[in-house]
Amino acid sequence: MPLSRRDFVKLGAVGLAAQWVPGGLMLPGGAQSGAAPSGGRPIGYAVVGLGRIAGHYIDGAKLSPHSKITALVSGHRDKAERMAAQYGVPTDSIYSYEDFDRIASNRAVDAVIVCLPNSMHAEYTIRGAKAGKHVLCEKPMAISSAECAQMIDACNVAHVKLMIAYRLHYEPITLKALDMVRSGRLGRLQLMEGAFGFPIGANEWRTNKALAGGGSVFDVGIYCVNAFRMFAGEEPVGIQGQVSTLDKGDPRFAEVEENVAWTMRFPSGVMATGTSTYGSYMGGFCRLHGQSGWLDVSPYGYQGMRVQGWCAAGADAGGSMVTIDETSEELDPLQFTHETDHFSQCILENRTPTTPGEEGLADLVCIEQIYKSAGVNL
Ligand code: NAD
Repeated sequence: MPLSRRDFVKLGAVGLAAQWVPGGLMLPGGAQSGAAPSGGRPIGYAVVGLGRIAGHYIDGAKLSPHSKITALVSGHRDKAERMAAQYGVPTDSIYSYEDFDRIASNRAVDAVIVCLPNSMHAEYTIRGAKAGKHVLCEKPMAISSAECAQMIDACNVAHVKLMIAYRLHYEPITLKALDMVRSGRLGRLQLMEGAFGFPIGANEWRTNKALAGGGSVFDVGIYCVNAFRMFAGEEPVGIQGQVSTLDKGDPRFAEVEENVAWTMRFPSGVMATGTSTYGSYMGGFCRLHGQSGWLDVSPYGYQGMRVQGWCAAGADAGGSMVTIDETSEELDPLQFTHETDHFSQCILENRTPTTPGEEGLADLVCIEQIYKSAGVNL
């Protein structure tokens, strides 16, 4: 199923085609001018939505030289007050969703981190941009490519930066694996495999299609889509997907499917197969097969990332094999420290983040193709 014509028409309609850079992971998208730097102090962040991932950002910021949590946004005032007391956030920097826009006048807030259910990312990114704040938005960027385009436009219009929170782009072991692939250590890349999944609980917002956008690809399969694009260093030209649910009566899968499998073909001839599920424990991994070696990058957790594999001593040496077995010493929440600090430095130095909005858009285009080719209407 060709991506390029239809999707570039879609992107062109919102004026983005010219900014969408193939292999966007390595080649950041359109330049953004950025709001004023914060005058030497750490970048101040408002965390929007105080659920599980928000806690990781708050813990990560405590270890950070460049980032500080200076405001909280929540629908639960008592919870926000408890967290504010714990982390030294002033109570007059607690906002509800309704009065979020007042954040525009809070000079201690340079940027917002959107940690809400997927369908709320677009609204709070656009409101954050209109309030003059830079935006670090969780993955998936939104629940459609059209929303992604609106978010990019809103941030460009407001001259604020937009980064999508692909934490593994800032994780040392993943970057080492990328370097091995880029430097030709595996020889020419041939094929990739990836998977990620977990058994979803009942009544999770992730099983509500209006809030989640779709099933496990939006939530965890996106790690595989993103890793395939990153390691291939190019954009796919063909995507085919299939979905299934084992027990049609399972209320968790009344609105979203349980299992997804897909293939991606890249212009160079590299191909990838991905699977994701909400039905069983499936540690995240990406396996890369090159002409002279292979690598496993796993487990996509918050700590203990590992790269294992073997490859020839040199692509042309035909000699002895080299075993690769490296594990990150990093502990949770350092991935979030690295990620947030990258964005802070981009704001301070007026640089485009490694994972700008265009990166989130490219993944949503792929996800839409997976569902479309599987015959699922989003
Ligand atoms: P969560 O359920 O733990 O937290 C969601 C927050 O949103 C809660 O504070 C909740 O009160 C608030 N909220 C506001 N309106 C809501 C509504 N209508 N329904 C439900 N909650 C509502 O979720 P989470 O696991 O923190 O996920 C939040 C976002 O972070 C998602 O987009 C998810 O994909 C992303 N995420 C990213 C990673 C990562 O490693 N990058 C990991 C987990 C989650």
